[in-house]
Amino acid sequence: MLDYDELKTAFEALGLANTPVIAHASLQPFGYIQNGADTVLQALLDSVKSLIMPTFTYKTMITPEVGPPNNGVTYGMDKDLNKMAEPFAVDMRADTMMGILPEALRNRPGAKRTSHPILSFAGVNSDLILDTQTLYEPFAPLGALADEGGWAVLINVDHSVNTSIHYAEKLAGRKQFTRWALAGNRVVECPNFPGDSSGFNTIASYIKPDTQRVTLGDAFIQAISLRRLFDAVQELIRNDPLALLCQRTDCERCNAVRNVIET
Ligand SMILES: [Zn+2]
Repeated sequence: MLDYDELKTAFEALGLANTPVIAHASLQPFGYIQNGADTVLQALLDSVKSLIMPTFTYKTMITPEVGPPNNGVTYGMDKDLNKMAEPFAVDMRADTMMGILPEALRNRPGAKRTSHPILSFAGVNSDLILDTQTLYEPFAPLGALADEGGWAVLINVDHSVNTSIHYAEKLAGRKQFTRWALAGNRVVECPNFPGDSSGFNTIASYIKPDTQRVTLGDAFIQAISLRRLFDAVQELIRNDPLALLCQRTDCERCNAVRNVIET
């Protein structure tokens, strides 16, 4: 059974004590840990300068009857889901798809959480980074994090959940999307919503020489500098405008990106 000391030793081996970090995690491969999420979070926080995590809330989303063309969405299809949509609140739980670590971070005393109705982030010691987020630039904190020499830490997960790659896709000029969410009693338009991330792990082989990796039994932690990651993603998309898209023929967002490239 892993404990705090073993986890801290593993995180410290990444050499990020003076580095601000964004993390993504699945805790299951660690096996049972006493006070699981809080123990992992404490070990991580004690091994980095500052930490943010995505606390996205997809249940706020609304699909309208009509909207802009080639937007990677089928309009008028989610009437039942629209009825179940809940307005964003700053204390709303992060979507279960994000795992349980973001919730532990959000609930930590002193943590800050941004107020984007779909794409919020929570963080500790990261207020200036989080404050860069706007409705128009939801991933601005990732640019701010890179400017501060930040790294992405992936705990038992691959790049298909690496949100920072979305920021680099946008830098590379890739098509972004418009989505809508409930906030209060209004429907808010959310521009610059990202594409699909399920094809992102293609980046792994390109950045392998620059990736720090620590293993603990069946579990692993990998980390990459955001500047290096952003450079690699932009270079990849420059060389192949279809890079990092998924192979599913029915993927609406990846197909929307292909439509822009092919026309
Ligand atoms: Zn896709």
